[in-house]
Amino acid sequence: MAYTANPDRYNNMNYAPCGHSGLQLPRVALGFWQNFGTNTDPATIKDLCFTAMDCGITYFDLANNYGPEPGSAERNLGKLLRTDLKPYRDELIISTKAGHPMWPGPYGNWGSRKHLFASLDQSLERLGLDYVDIFYHHRMDPNTPLEETVDALCDIVKQGKALYIGLSKYDAAHLEQASRMLEERHCPFVVCQNRYNMLDRTIETNGTKDTIYKKEKGLVAFSPLARGALSGRYLNGIPNASYAARNHDFAKSLTDDRLAQLSCLNAVAAERGQTLAQMALSWVLRDNVVTSVLIGASTPEQIRENAAVASQSHHFSDVEVFSIDDILDLPHTL
Ligand code: NDP
Repeated sequence: MAYTANPDRYNNMNYAPCGHSGLQLPRVALGFWQNFGTNTDPATIKDLCFTAMDCGITYFDLANNYGPEPGSAERNLGKLLRTDLKPYRDELIISTKAGHPMWPGPYGNWGSRKHLFASLDQSLERLGLDYVDIFYHHRMDPNTPLEETVDALCDIVKQGKALYIGLSKYDAAHLEQASRMLEERHCPFVVCQNRYNMLDRTIETNGTKDTIYKKEKGLVAFSPLARGALSGRYLNGIPNASYAARNHDFAKSLTDDRLAQLSCLNAVAAERGQTLAQMALSWVLRDNVVTSVLIGASTPEQIRENAAVASQSHHFSDVEVFSIDDILDLPHTL
């Protein structure tokens, strides 16, 4: 039976302007990094996408290399965009990225004009779209002149292949430079994508978050749950179908000390009337520079639990903020 979206979906989500732009993004968005490739059956992929839609999640985040295998996440979403989701295209923000290894040879990676144009054309083909809403340069390129990357991004917008531009994993200095160049060229650069969560505050300490704020861009935070560590998922051991069960290094990071910290955080969350995952998402959203938290999910229940955060309070008292810092043995921040 054809999918019909929940008519109340827009009452279930809050939307925020993305930096200084007219683009509104849902406070909770869905990323396609790990769970939408060939390792997941098509019925589950449908279920995850339709659940997200029904929760009012309008932003689906992809990249050329998401899967596994590379390209398969775009191909799988493309199948839905050609069928069940076709009537909803204008309600959706579809993003993709280029800049990580995609095919062998000198043009399959990084930030050259050659790579960005070829990769985006391949992405559009897989997605079955004429344009993406946001095209991100996926990571800084130490070898290509920044002017070349910036000019290519501007030309991609001029050709109508992307509506807005984003930069992913740029540090403060490169962000400052790229932002100035994109503004000089009147390119609609509106969003930065960076890792940010209670355990990883690099963008707070290295000036990136302040630069995003100063430049009036939106921040879309990835890995807000630290791949699921900041949820109830591992409080009672490692479940079979979890990321930790598949990734040895990640499992090793869940030391006894870390698990003890997570239990204490879980108690703080319970006092706030939230699950640990919800508190972790609210903690990221508490700063207005953060437009959206970009969640990964392997079940519809995870999406529903996480999407509910959009209508919860993102206010943290000083006592809560300091006790979270103390539990994690980190310097006090506000
Ligand atoms: P998260 O930190 O949100 O981790 C997602 C994982 O956490 C899920 O796959 C699931 O793991 C678990 N999880 C999610 N919700 C719950 C819940 N309520 N209870 C228990 N466990 C839960 O994000 P990701 O690291 O996956 O990143 C999210 C998105 O960000 C990506 O899909 C991608 O779009 C983007 N990203 C961008 C990057 C970039 O370079 N720009 C880099 C990395 C990500 P499990 O599979 O174990 O169920």
